[in-house]
Amino acid sequence: NRELGVFSNMTAQATSANMPVVLLKDGASQTKGREAQKNNISAAKIIAEIVRTSLGPRGMDKMLVDSLGDVTITNDGATILKEIDVQHPAAKMLVEISKSTDNEVGDGTTSVVVLAGALLEQAESLILQDVHPTVIVDGYKKAGKKAKQYLKEIAEQVTANDKPTLLKIANTSMQTKLVRKESDMLADIVVQAVLAASVKDGENYTVDVDDIKVEKKTGGSISDSSILQGIVLDKEIVHSGMPKKVTNSKIALINTALEIEKTEIDAKINISTPDQMKSFLDEENKMLKTMVDKITNVGATVVFCQKGIDDMSQHYLTKAGILAVRRIKESDLTKLAKASGARIVTNLDDLSEKDLGTAGLVEERKVEEDRWVFVEGCKHPKSVTILLRAGSQRVVDEVERAVHDAIMVVKDVMELPSIVAGGGAPEVFAAAQITNWAKSLEGREQLAAEKFAEALETIPLALSENAGMDPIDTLATLRSRQLKGNKWTGIDVMKGQVSDLKSSNIVEPLVVKNQIISAATEVACMILRIDDVIATAKSAGPPPGAEGGMPPGMGGMGGMPPGMGGMPDMGGMM
Ligand code: ADP
Ligand code: MG
Repeated sequence: NRELGVFSNMTAQATSANMPVVLLKDGASQTKGREAQKNNISAAKIIAEIVRTSLGPRGMDKMLVDSLGDVTITNDGATILKEIDVQHPAAKMLVEISKSTDNEVGDGTTSVVVLAGALLEQAESLILQDVHPTVIVDGYKKAGKKAKQYLKEIAEQVTANDKPTLLKIANTSMQTKLVRKESDMLADIVVQAVLAASVKDGENYTVDVDDIKVEKKTGGSISDSSILQGIVLDKEIVHSGMPKKVTNSKIALINTALEIEKTEIDAKINISTPDQMKSFLDEENKMLKTMVDKITNVGATVVFCQKGIDDMSQHYLTKAGILAVRRIKESDLTKLAKASGARIVTNLDDLSEKDLGTAGLVEERKVEEDRWVFVEGCKHPKSVTILLRAGSQRVVDEVERAVHDAIMVVKDVMELPSIVAGGGAPEVFAAAQITNWAKSLEGREQLAAEKFAEALETIPLALSENAGMDPIDTLATLRSRQLKGNKWTGIDVMKGQVSDLKSSNIVEPLVVKNQIISAATEVACMILRIDDVIATAKSAGPPPGAEGGMPPGMGGMGGMPPGMGGMPDMGGMM
């Protein structure tokens, strides 16, 4: 990086009569042209290199230690990149596509980064041959569109709620995680949960993943995980005198404290006699009693409160025979509202009978050393909880990530019932087709399209490499078998051979593959179009949203999003 002082390059260009024009603040830096491109591409390649070894069932795990010394062990692309906290602006863009892929489709977070890295690496070789980045971008965009078209051709339509298909999809996604051995049983739980949460609208299904609560608890083993109809709260009943079990419950959801609010400003009360003290406390108790009365008057038998519950309020609630739980997470309160049909009440004066929800059973049960509250038999049967178990915190965390991916892929297929094979099969197929089609392109775009095909083959290459197979031989076998018309032929990584993956049940949702291609192409093109990186000095205090010292005004320079951190929604691009 060339430091840019007052008499910088940029200022020199802007003058005609040796009069320096000051554009940038002291200490700002500018990288231009080839150098900027090279720098960005290198950063992206490094990021891709990091996650590449964790791709596929034989991928390795990463151990990540954060600044507080907390350890995460994972092979999930989005999680790895989130934890390593990168600084480089171009590298950050790759982290963002991994995250957006996670949000959009849930799986493919490693693949998208590997593919984006490969696209940039291939582009670098073209730039060295003097192909202009704009031409590469055009070629890539066309090839990306074609790739999705070819995938659509080989994709197989399935029945959206066909359990065996959904099980295969969930299973494939979990094959690549630590839970591989238990994937059958977890897939069953996941599919049950997603089917329960799905809503049929005409011919189509939609799934709101918020209806599926995932709760985790260390202890036992992964196979002790289970699914419950209803909601589980990792909280205990607030007072031991309260009933432990309420059937046909009427539930009040409150997001205000059942306590006397402390004044904002310091107030002083002068008390000189015991009588005054007594009447002060009596007054407080009366206020709390009034609060509780409002709840009992409408006929609630269960209270879930987002804030605290005063000892005195607990006493009154206990006397009224009400089961109460305090300090419930906001997200759980929302889930409870949906499940029980209750309305969350902020002002107790507004509470009326019709705000109450219902549940067949609210009960406190022991889970390991803790006591949790189970809300079952809800009015809205779509709410389910998956209770995950594993011997240690780190394992249960990784199980949760695997289950998240599995829930998402099952949802993907229910919403768009189209599947392709895994194990590099669709990538190799699309690559072959694109190489063929590229010949029809005139000019240097042809070269770019060919490179796009090569980049697609990075996925099978990485899969076989990670499995200790010979990547070149494997790819050659794969290509030739596919050419003979076996479109479902891919790398069965666990068996270490090239075979028909449909019969081995290694299948993935088409939307995941589409998202990987769209997002990777988009980010690669975005990075390729940057020919100028201007960073203001750190000491000057970067503007909000521009960590790394990038000014927000970069938006016009090669299509970088404002603030670098927030990438636009990648889904449905191109
Ligand atoms: P991502 O985060 O991109 O989903 P993964 O580590 O989950 O990365 O690996 C996904 C890749 O592994 C996909 O290309 C998928 O087809 C492949 N894969 C999954 N299971 C198998 C298997 N049993 N044999 C071969 N490839 C598999
Ligand atoms: Mg995966």
